[in-house]
Amino acid sequence: MISPQVSLSKNSPQESRQLNPKVSFKKVRSGDTLVALLKRHGFNTTQRTKILQQKVFSENFTLIPGEKFRVSKDTPKSFLELKFYEIPSNNVLLFWRKGDAAGSLSRNESYTIKVKTARGRISGSILGSINSQTKDDFVAQRFMDAYALDYKLTREVQRGAKFVVTYEEKYDDNQFIGTGEVIETELEIRGKIDKRQFVPHADGGSFITDTMIHKNRPLYSPVNYMRITSHYNRRRFHPITKRRTPHLGVDFELPEGEDLFATAAGKVLRKGKNRAAGYYVVLRHENGLESYYNHLESIDKSVKRGQWVNTGQIIGKVGCTGYCTKPHLHFALKKRGQFVDPVPYIKSYPYIKKKLIRRHIAALSQKSNKPKSSRQ
Ligand SMILES: [Zn+2]
Repeated sequence: MISPQVSLSKNSPQESRQLNPKVSFKKVRSGDTLVALLKRHGFNTTQRTKILQQKVFSENFTLIPGEKFRVSKDTPKSFLELKFYEIPSNNVLLFWRKGDAAGSLSRNESYTIKVKTARGRISGSILGSINSQTKDDFVAQRFMDAYALDYKLTREVQRGAKFVVTYEEKYDDNQFIGTGEVIETELEIRGKIDKRQFVPHADGGSFITDTMIHKNRPLYSPVNYMRITSHYNRRRFHPITKRRTPHLGVDFELPEGEDLFATAAGKVLRKGKNRAAGYYVVLRHENGLESYYNHLESIDKSVKRGQWVNTGQIIGKVGCTGYCTKPHLHFALKKRGQFVDPVPYIKSYPYIKKKLIRRHIAALSQKSNKPKSSRQ
């Protein structure tokens, strides 16, 4: 992760404000590396070396083909600055040169934000339908993830179902940079509208629902930020071994170092490290369920074999140890000794968000002034 407000150069930001540069927007080409891109923009070897040594960007800084970046140029003063956007955060990375000098820095920026509402009906795939109304995949992905644990979307959402999504668009110099937070979504499922509100990324990025369906599911989400990249599938084509091997769990993609929570109270059955799973933890719960957490960066010190852990207790951090290409949690569930699809057992939010959700629902019921349900 990049730490904000790191200023490694004294002369760039101030000077760039005094200049009156010509601004243009360009896109990252496929196969571009930072070095190639700097070279193309006239950074010489010494300047490139200096920038790489400063290491303002994180280890896993990658250029995404098609990604927009800003070029500011002031020819008489031989000043040039490249600005990259770390959407959805407010962080930017700047690479500049002036004469023989060069440098880089990372900082937070305030954007012009426009709140947009897109609405439509599902025709074809859900992802495609939402994508056709918004400018990038991120919104549609967040939308799908918000419902992924509660419904089998492909089966339960009918053609013609209504959807609404309210989200932010970020602009720099009147140029659309990318989408920011998704704020609220609505989806028609079997004739009923299910509404979701979103917790901002900085606060964990989970979802708030006013319906609280499936509140009787036995497990809380093991992660705060919901991003399912691979579902339970008995006939999956494995990305590493290139063989058809079942995927007996769910993959939640999260940045390295994010907290992992015990999905329910239980005893630590096993923990350790092996070639495939990397660092892993297995918990045994009271109701005949066992939960598996693989590819951890580290296991929390409080997790000891044979010891009890509480619901929502931090058991480790997201990593990419073992057979893994990108940081994620492989979460699996055994019921009476058999792996099962964990999704129907998991509530869509972690235990730590329980109070927040209760408060939200209480506020909603006060607002609508409805008498409280007595069925509880
Ligand atoms: Zn997996």
